[in-house]
Amino acid sequence: MGIYEELGVRRIINANARWTALGGSKMPEPVLAAMNEASGAYVDMHELQRAVGHRIAELTRNEGAFITTGAAAGLVVSVLAAMNRGDLTTIAQAIEGRTPARHEVVIHRAHRIPYDPAVRLAGARMVEIGNALQTFPWELEAAIGEATAAVLFVAGEHLAHAALSLVQTVEIAHARGVPVIVDAAAQLPPPENLWRFTRELGADLAVFSGGKDLRGPQASGLIVGAAEWIEACRVNGSPYQRLARPMKAGKEEMIGLLAAIKVYLAVDHAARAAWFEATVQDWIDAVAGLPGVAASRQFPDEAGQPAPRAHIAVDPAIVGLTGADLHRRLWEGEPGIAVALAGPNAVSLSPTVLDGDDPAIVGRRLREILAPAAVAV
Ligand SMILES: *Cc1c(COP(=O)(O)O)cnc(C)c1O
Repeated sequence: MGIYEELGVRRIINANARWTALGGSKMPEPVLAAMNEASGAYVDMHELQRAVGHRIAELTRNEGAFITTGAAAGLVVSVLAAMNRGDLTTIAQAIEGRTPARHEVVIHRAHRIPYDPAVRLAGARMVEIGNALQTFPWELEAAIGEATAAVLFVAGEHLAHAALSLVQTVEIAHARGVPVIVDAAAQLPPPENLWRFTRELGADLAVFSGGKDLRGPQASGLIVGAAEWIEACRVNGSPYQRLARPMKAGKEEMIGLLAAIKVYLAVDHAARAAWFEATVQDWIDAVAGLPGVAASRQFPDEAGQPAPRAHIAVDPAIVGLTGADLHRRLWEGEPGIAVALAGPNAVSLSPTVLDGDDPAIVGRRLREILAPAAVAV
């Protein structure tokens, strides 16, 4: 009996997205082997953090890198670094409950996302600019003052339409001596994004999830960027018993993330993209011709990423199922399949986290659920 079966926990086929709530990702063999080896010895964790950071910085063409327990933790550490700039007096005062002089983080209203409570956890106050439709450069200029610690920019095509560009944001912030932190947690692929935001677009720090497309340890995250800001992250972080100590990455996470990045940079991403397209097409073909069912390709995906999804709409009057019914039938079936609800009468499926026979099982289940219902009407 497997570990999950013994606990009575169902295994799920994840055709939704790389959600933490569904276990994130599966680590490749070299990552597991590296973590296993890492766990077999004691090391100086300061030395390890520096060495792994140095190696990851080289691999990702950045000046520096720091490993955390996830991208959300990376946001906390980055904001702390921006607030106290690694100054020990400011850190000591913050530990005693004093608010640092720089305690505001400017964020586009269009960039408010469910992960931004990390900014509050660091003790900063969010100052919003712009609105749901647009943002002007003067709004960013006006929002930056003596209390500004950083600008937090959330990357992604899906959030870009009502915000300034990253280049414009960096230009305005840097002219006022303020760093820009990019939340790029789910902005992989393409792998080039590991250096694009920092080296090409000028951001000071960029934060990535280790447990999403990188397929590193679930509880790992990566901050890359300018040497001075990475150093400020390090001063705040574990193993120091300072503000970010609760977000410690272990030696296994550090070594595992390094291994994952090596694997990721060696992947044939063009072949992978072709496989995504073929899988989405297979799902569309699986339901083609069924009465009351309309399937199409969606692009980009829910995170604004260059990956396709299959959108499957049902006409309840013909199929006898709403989108929510289809969503539930897939989830409650055997095996359980997670898809995204995409409006009252549609679901949407991603191939990006699947492997092996799973895509074919998903296609078969879709047909099983949708075909007999169609016939029964
Ligand atoms: C997933 C995600 C996070 C959180 O990342 P974790 O590694 O799970 O902590 C933060 N920001 C965005 C935009 C994300 O997609």
